[in-house]
Amino acid sequence: MSLVVQKFGGSSVRDAERIKNVAEIITAAYKDGSNVIAVVSAQGDTTDDFIAKASEVNPKPSKREMDMLLSAGEQISASLLAMAIESMGFPVVSLLGWQAGFTTSSNYGDARIKKIDTDRMKKELDKKNIIIVTGFQGVNRYGDMTTLGRGGSDTSAVAIACAMHADLCQIFTDVEGVFTADPRKIPKAQKLSSISYDEMLELATLGAQVLHNRSVEMAKKYNLEIEVLSSLTGERGTIVKEDKNVEQMIISGVAKDDNIARISIVGVPDKPGLAFKIFSKLSQKSINVDIILQSIGRNGTKDITFTVEKAKMDDAILIIEESLENIGATSIVADDNVSKVSIVGAGMESHPGVAAEMFEALFEKSINIQMISTSEIKISVLIDKQDSDRAVKAIHDKFFGESD
Ligand code: ADP
Ligand code: ASP
Ligand code: MG
Repeated sequence: MSLVVQKFGGSSVRDAERIKNVAEIITAAYKDGSNVIAVVSAQGDTTDDFIAKASEVNPKPSKREMDMLLSAGEQISASLLAMAIESMGFPVVSLLGWQAGFTTSSNYGDARIKKIDTDRMKKELDKKNIIIVTGFQGVNRYGDMTTLGRGGSDTSAVAIACAMHADLCQIFTDVEGVFTADPRKIPKAQKLSSISYDEMLELATLGAQVLHNRSVEMAKKYNLEIEVLSSLTGERGTIVKEDKNVEQMIISGVAKDDNIARISIVGVPDKPGLAFKIFSKLSQKSINVDIILQSIGRNGTKDITFTVEKAKMDDAILIIEESLENIGATSIVADDNVSKVSIVGAGMESHPGVAAEMFEALFEKSINIQMISTSEIKISVLIDKQDSDRAVKAIHDKFFGESD
């Protein structure tokens, strides 16, 4: 018997009407003769609302208690969805992450899935039950609730599909698939019929929220095809799969990330070992550094500029301030009013001039580039945050034709 894993995001289960709609999708697959495991996110903005509630009682709550709180959102939507399916006369059971066998690392708020013990899910399927699993959560070795990081329900679904050898993994969301840019911001963005794992991974990592990047990483590892589609329209979506089967485009998409900050260390002595000192200190504190730029040494000193996730900016400044004297640098300048705008495309490897075209699009709108970083299949620029929406539109227009 075939097994379908279906994931429904927050907007797909935001109220009773949407929950009933999702119940229809799940039971239709069940009536077609498949086993179905559905993974759900918290309803609508529940997770954001919980974060706001936490800050009302404690500006810096412990990560353990945060996960205790945040994991509650998915419990609500899973039970409500199971009730809706019950009322339609189908056998169903909802399971929390730990009941579905998810063990994770202890890193609260950003836990990694270590293992899925599939016994319980297999037993429920043997009983012909539809299973609803709470996304985004698991339990660590201390028996405490953990969450997988914002957007992590996608990863829960892909992990179940891999562990249970599902025949189909569908990620239902509020848009019709993966587009060449965020379709809410760029109305002329085009839906891709398919995209390679590598390109999707870059887009997801560079800010296209539509899939959690770790879900793509895992799908690639296990060679699991994912379909991203709308829970409202019934249209075919986008297939994420191995690149040899994918329609080749020079650029597959434009993404934007506002969750970023830029830090410059000014007046670093121009001698060996200092970059090593700075970046090893940051990595010891688990601060990931993204784009790095070092100026040419002049008068015996140079500047080192890099970007970090916005939430890590204050920690990074503190760490560098502590060793400023030791490094021999003069000062630190930080700015979180920046955005990273990127283009992704496997075709750029074999097409010269893509970077020039991207920079031309920005120049034509007088948008200044602060930093540039490239890899084989992506080009990113750091710009002023206030320019970022205009930049995405200008770049999208350049590669995909004028939009309104
Ligand atoms: P869900 O709640 O279903 O997990 P998300 O809000 O996490 O949904 O992700 C879907 C959203 O991702 C869309 O509403 C869209 O605004 C945004 N998005 C950003 N970039 C893209 C893109 N390239 N293609 C499709 N959607 C995108
Ligand atoms: N509810 C969680 C969040 O809002 C997980 C998810 O939606 O995937 O981040
Ligand atoms: Mg999501």
